[in-house]
Amino acid sequence: MRRPMVAGNWKMNGTQAEAAALVGGIEQGLAGVRHAEILVCPPYILVPVVAEWLSGSRVTWGGQNLSAHKSGAYTGEISGSMLRDFGCSHVIVGHSERRALYGESDQTVAEKFRAAQSVGLVPILCVGETLAEREASQTETVVARQLDAVVKLAGIAAMDNAIVAYEPVWAIGTGRTATPEQAQSVHAFIRARLAQLSATVAERLRILYGGSVKAANAQQLFGQPDIDGGLIGGASLDVEEFLAICRAAG
Ligand code: PEP
Repeated sequence: MRRPMVAGNWKMNGTQAEAAALVGGIEQGLAGVRHAEILVCPPYILVPVVAEWLSGSRVTWGGQNLSAHKSGAYTGEISGSMLRDFGCSHVIVGHSERRALYGESDQTVAEKFRAAQSVGLVPILCVGETLAEREASQTETVVARQLDAVVKLAGIAAMDNAIVAYEPVWAIGTGRTATPEQAQSVHAFIRARLAQLSATVAERLRILYGGSVKAANAQQLFGQPDIDGGLIGGASLDVEEFLAICRAAG
């Protein structure tokens, strides 16, 4: 049985006061969330305070990105061991915004994935196609390419200590969600592709869906057999919406 997870990606949002209200609200509403694992990924600068506030909580915290390098002359970058130092358990790698806006290639994403695992962080590997790629029937080709780059570098066994998030780019921040059937079909494809290398690893792997998930559509999405929770952007900044999504998963 795969334990569902709901992860909030705050992106570049939040003051300390806003983050405090968000974390406080989530903590207060947790009683209604039974089973799901809950993670929040604040911007780097808020990680220390979030770590302090969530110390001892069942909510864990993680990074939105990390450097592929361990340390050194990389101005503006943050390493995996720095995230670990502040109690992060997970880190998002290969978010479509990183790929599109910061030119992260499949190879860079694979290196970041490996850098995360090398310091004990669980990478949440984001994969997903653009609208043009979907319309050209390239969804599976693109997702396979993104997945294969990581498996080639890190090995199939590494997926045992990772999470995959399927995030169709056309559904991120657009209000346009994949239908439960569209999402399930890609999730099943991801699992089947990895099962060619290890059925056990594929069966255990948690695959989250991300792309305009909100309270109103979460239950239907999470009800699909290969959808093991969600990576939530916009709705993770609203306490009530986020908690309702957590309840839908839990
Ligand atoms: C995301 O950025 O990972 C995401 C899924 O965003 P949104 O929920 O806002 O579409």
